[in-house]
Amino acid sequence: MQQNIVKYEYLDKTLTIYQLKAFAMKTNFICPKCRGYLNVDNKVIFTVKKKGWSGGIVKLSPELGDYAITHHPSFKFDDGDHFEFHCPICNYDLTLDGADKLAKVILHEEDGKEYFVVFSKIKGERCTYKISEKQVEESYGDHAGRNMDLLSATFFR
Ligand SMILES: [Zn+2]
Repeated sequence: MQQNIVKYEYLDKTLTIYQLKAFAMKTNFICPKCRGYLNVDNKVIFTVKKKGWSGGIVKLSPELGDYAITHHPSFKFDDGDHFEFHCPICNYDLTLDGADKLAKVILHEEDGKEYFVVFSKIKGERCTYKISEKQVEESYGDHAGRNMDLLSATFFR
């Protein structure tokens, strides 16, 4: 915990030790293009668009495998809808090269290690992958089996 205390000295001193622990344990989600932070207040923020809809902002859970999504009540999302996910900072299209239905962001863990997190852009398709340089380290969701070949072909050629 000593390391956490050191970090604390650079932050707002009104943080309690409890809040500090929560902060220090956090992982960050980062845009692969601009390296801006996509996580705010324990949610991961994206702008999304789909055909015939100019788009909006959604908040996803930072817990891999938690498919809770928050958005404006006027948004109508149906299972099977194919969304485009963009970085809300630089507007970069987060589509994974070679896999149109998947999106990719960087996961920066507290120990400094970085991974890619890949998830489906299709509403209702529950699959999330944590990927290192070498392999799919972890996979989540009922449909995680669907894209393993695609991921191998994309990441580990
Ligand atoms: Zn960006």
